[in-house]
Amino acid sequence: MDKYCNYIIVGQGIAGTVLGQTLLDQNKSVLIIDDLSLSNASRIAAGLYNPIVFKRLVKSWMIDDLLPVMNKFYTDAEQLLNYKFYFERKIVKPFAEAHERALWQKKVNEEVGKYLSNDIHYDFLKDIIYNPLGVSEVLSGGNLKIEIFLDLFREYFKRENILLEEKINYNELMVNENNVVYKNISADKVIFCEGFKTIDNPYFSWLPFKLTKGEVITIKIPNAIIPDQFVINKGVFILPLGNGMYKAGATYEWNDLSEHPTEKGKEELMDKLNKVIKLPFEIIDHQAGIRPTVIDRRPLLGIHPKHKSLAVFNGLGTKGVMLAPYFAKHFADYLDKKNVLNKEVDINRFIK
Ligand SMILES: Cc1cc2nc3c(=O)[nH]c(=O)nc-3n(C[C@H](O)[C@H](O)[C@H](O)COP(=O)(O)OP(=O)(O)OC[C@H]3O[C@@H](n4cnc5c(N)ncnc54)[C@H](O)[C@@H]3O)c2cc1C
Repeated sequence: MDKYCNYIIVGQGIAGTVLGQTLLDQNKSVLIIDDLSLSNASRIAAGLYNPIVFKRLVKSWMIDDLLPVMNKFYTDAEQLLNYKFYFERKIVKPFAEAHERALWQKKVNEEVGKYLSNDIHYDFLKDIIYNPLGVSEVLSGGNLKIEIFLDLFREYFKRENILLEEKINYNELMVNENNVVYKNISADKVIFCEGFKTIDNPYFSWLPFKLTKGEVITIKIPNAIIPDQFVINKGVFILPLGNGMYKAGATYEWNDLSEHPTEKGKEELMDKLNKVIKLPFEIIDHQAGIRPTVIDRRPLLGIHPKHKSLAVFNGLGTKGVMLAPYFAKHFADYLDKKNVLNKEVDINRFIK
């Protein structure tokens, strides 16, 4: 055998990248296998993180635990890779109805209020944004420039000689009781981080995904600038990319799971944007991807019920940026026998 490592990780989306780096931080050896052409969900995502669920104006699941781990992971990664890709931004909420504004004013006095601004602005970007009922802001939100983050980590993993750029061939995986052998590499475990492609994985295709396609567009608004410190969110998000360009999205589609952008998706986004932006805009780009969403909307972590040398880290759904750092640490500690898995994310919840 030519090579040995503690873990082979399959997939270098946000899940595999964050888990890989977390394991390296814990002095484990890893090899990452990734074929970029199989899924672009992480690469097209806007990378937003938002501590609030707008529909009910409540805190996002586990947010008080997720935020500190996320902040530390991405700022440490910026130092490691010597690049700024993690930004705090104010998520601006223009009110669509008077009762939404009233609910906001009530919630600022509750526990969730630590993530909500007290102020309501009636003249926010009034030449660009429809804003008859005022806007307020979510605090402690922001975004990860996720494609840059993944590219820089890919270069880093290559330099460290721990990246194999290919599609894993499941037939060449020799699964033993206490280890796995793939080609000339042996490892204690393989951890699959294949995003929605896990539906083709012979060991984990039984996991109950309820996949969601999403489409985003890149637009240009000539002669107007929404400053970089804001993200606008009113049924559709508008994220400044710089140079007068914005990413806008996203759609949610459960029936058509092709990875291609559609006319229907584009029209839906344009309709929503026309209700928010007063000025004409041009569409520069249009992309689609498949989110690895799960029937109970919780991540999927665990070891295969029969093959103890196979594991999965997946199901990050619509919130890969927020969930990955906390649950990568949680999973790495579990693999090191330092904790037990949170039952809400353990794949055992689906085993009768
Ligand atoms: C339109 C859209 C907008 C989104 N916006 C946001 C957002 O603003 N904020 C947020 O947090 N999340 C967002 N998401 C969700 C986010 O994209 C997902 O949570 C995240 O991408 C899941 O990451 P992953 O690493 O599990 O999967 P993926 O990103 O799918 O990565 C899997 C990787 O594994 C590779 N791979 C798969 N199978 C194999 C194999 N057999 N062999 C080798 N390589 C393999 C793939 O090519 C890919 O590189 C959005 C998603 C979409 C579609």
